[in-house]
Amino acid sequence: MAGIEITDLHKHYGNLAILNGVNLRIEDGEFVTLIGPSGCGKSTLLKIIAGLEAASSGSIRIASRVVNNVPPQQRDLAMVFQNYALYPQMTIRQNLAFGMKVKGFTKPEIERRITEVANTLGLGALLDRRPRQLSGGQRQRVAMGRAMVREPQAFLLDEPLSNLDAALRTVMRSEIKTLHQRLGRTMVYVTHDQVEAMTMADRIAIMQNGKIVQYGAPDDLYSRP
Ligand code: ADP
Ligand code: ADP
Repeated sequence: MAGIEITDLHKHYGNLAILNGVNLRIEDGEFVTLIGPSGCGKSTLLKIIAGLEAASSGSIRIASRVVNNVPPQQRDLAMVFQNYALYPQMTIRQNLAFGMKVKGFTKPEIERRITEVANTLGLGALLDRRPRQLSGGQRQRVAMGRAMVREPQAFLLDEPLSNLDAALRTVMRSEIKTLHQRLGRTMVYVTHDQVEAMTMADRIAIMQNGKIVQYGAPDDLYSRP
């Protein structure tokens, strides 16, 4: 099962320290939001968990296995970014299928996964359209779908809704929450929006200057006397 455990993680670029001893233990299936001011190291932490950046020191465990030297494609997680880079010339179906094709999945398996993800995300009627024919919210759903077809144990979401307008953000928040309840997968969700952090999370990690300074359930963190 895919809990994530970060121990004394440091990251520096030359002399510039970005992460200064991050400790964080995320239980399997938990929804954790990571919040903190711009530049405090949230994206860097997420990229290191995903394997897209290397740690300077410290350990990252996924499902109890130390993954510091495991390449991203073998970490069993998927990332969703705010700029949902879809391939503009491809249809939604082709966008969803692309990664699986590259990996040599069989056609029936590709179709099974696309059908399942399209049903879950309400994309069925959009599969033959191209990205430019979709609204922002629909595109964000496709980006989520591209992560879901990987069937990862854990999702890492980096401000996935920040390009959407307020009304759509509210809708998508509850969709992502529902998705979490349905899939029961671990989700780590970076945001700088406190309301988002509070309403979505099982636990919130507050980050400052490259460290987790508080970690707990929303009620424990924000309604102490
Ligand atoms: P956040 O996601 O909290 O806004 P980031 O993790 O993106 O923060 O960035 C943390 C700090 O690391 C920032 O000061 C940023 O400028 C710096 N940083 C990020 N990537 C690099 C890099 N490749 N080289 C040097 N500095 C970087
Ligand atoms: P695509 O770019 O369509 O997803 P692939 O699935 O072949 O194509 O991905 C290429 C590499 O990029 C993979 O080795 C994988 O590790 C990484 N990758 C792609 N999408 C994600 C994602 N959502 N999260 C994490 N890693 C990803």
